[in-house]
Amino acid sequence: MENVLVVGGRRSGIYAAILAKKLGYSVFLTENSINEEVLKNISILKGYAVDYEIGKHSFDIVKNFDFAVLSPGVPLGSEIVLDLEKNAVPFIGETEFAYRSSPATQVVAITGSNGKSTTTSLIGHILKLFDDKTVTGGNLGNPYSELLLEMPNPHFAVLETSCFQLETIRSYQPKVAVFLNIMENHLDRYSTIDEYVSIKKRIFENQSESDFAVLNFDDRVVSDFSKSIKSKAYYYSIFSEVPQGVYLEGDKIYLKEDDLKSLFAEISIIRLRGLHNVSNVLAAIVASHILSVPNEIIIEGIKTFEGLPHRLEEVRTLEGVLFVNDSKSTTPDSTIKALESFDSPIILIAGGSSKNNDFRNLATHFNAKVKKLILLGKTARQIGDAAVREGFGNFIIVDSLENAVKKAREIACNGDVVLMSPACASFDMFNDFEHRGETFKEIVNKL
Ligand code: ADP
Repeated sequence: MENVLVVGGRRSGIYAAILAKKLGYSVFLTENSINEEVLKNISILKGYAVDYEIGKHSFDIVKNFDFAVLSPGVPLGSEIVLDLEKNAVPFIGETEFAYRSSPATQVVAITGSNGKSTTTSLIGHILKLFDDKTVTGGNLGNPYSELLLEMPNPHFAVLETSCFQLETIRSYQPKVAVFLNIMENHLDRYSTIDEYVSIKKRIFENQSESDFAVLNFDDRVVSDFSKSIKSKAYYYSIFSEVPQGVYLEGDKIYLKEDDLKSLFAEISIIRLRGLHNVSNVLAAIVASHILSVPNEIIIEGIKTFEGLPHRLEEVRTLEGVLFVNDSKSTTPDSTIKALESFDSPIILIAGGSSKNNDFRNLATHFNAKVKKLILLGKTARQIGDAAVREGFGNFIIVDSLENAVKKAREIACNGDVVLMSPACASFDMFNDFEHRGETFKEIVNKL
């Protein structure tokens, strides 16, 4: 029996350990921190007879293992990983481990800087309509190991695959790899954009000529990947015709294959707001089409997909005022996308904790789009200053989300939109963006 060491006691590590146990390995899990979350996660292990330690890594035992499985949260430069290297213990990531345990499953992997969760969920939703033996998750929702425990050997696995997960793949070979876009966020773990791109590009690393790449034709760096990958490239575009794939022309979506163009559907089938979401939907159409999902099923999937919570989520219309929760927006770019998604006057609630963001570009959109800006959190003043520099002085600063919503309600008239799209992280006032979004919804629903 092979001995496997699982490093990291978050959900990925916990379920990798359980999967390993189920596959017949002797398993030990190590987690060096100890807090409420760890204790909660560790309790999931009960009943699986997995040995573990928390609050420390016992380095002297590392050499006893045949290989290690790392949670995506474990940095490659950390002491435990260096120790594994020193002792020549091979290691792989949780995604790779799960992938190896279900070799017949066709994986659709989705990566990029923005839109991963939305696109992953939509592709998962469509494939599930097509074939019930489909699982959806990865970096979004449930780790692949957990999905495989719930449904062993699915026909399709639709997996949001983050750069952290791609750092530790070896043989991970998606049948379809979808690459959405590259934006300069996530540079906290990588020193240069080139390093970030080269890690993300590993999604294609093990693909062969019989696999597929779905590339955003509107992102030059992404579309150019076709020159350096083995898999067959399909494209999607919201701006121009593509060599092969799906594109938008006016209000119609066209499919182009082997130089034959055909009308796929009207853009009105898409319920999600915003051109960025049209782009995500086109990516999902291409991926599903490649996997031979009939057009009618793809269209049904798009028509019935409501989008994810906290991403331009419509909470309620009250006296003609639409309240929208866009708590997932933690960067100025996301808030720009949100502003561009509405034609009506917007009362924007923004601000939060800083990710060293630069709000200058965001502020250039205020004059055209924003009726009133309501700021809160650590970055309130900074966003206000950026607004003033753009000649927009129509803002107030409040001390709580509750007061922000109250103010917005007072100001808003029939036909306006109250949009909470913070452009910032949430950690100054909330546990995470979900907590912020749920709080917003609660306040709005009590109005
Ligand atoms: P991710 O999982 O990559 O963070 P999400 O689907 O959760 O992506 O979307 C997060 C935010 O990113 C959205 O609220 C939106 O502002 C922005 N976004 C989504 N899709 C795109 C896109 N295709 N291009 C640019 N920005 C996007």
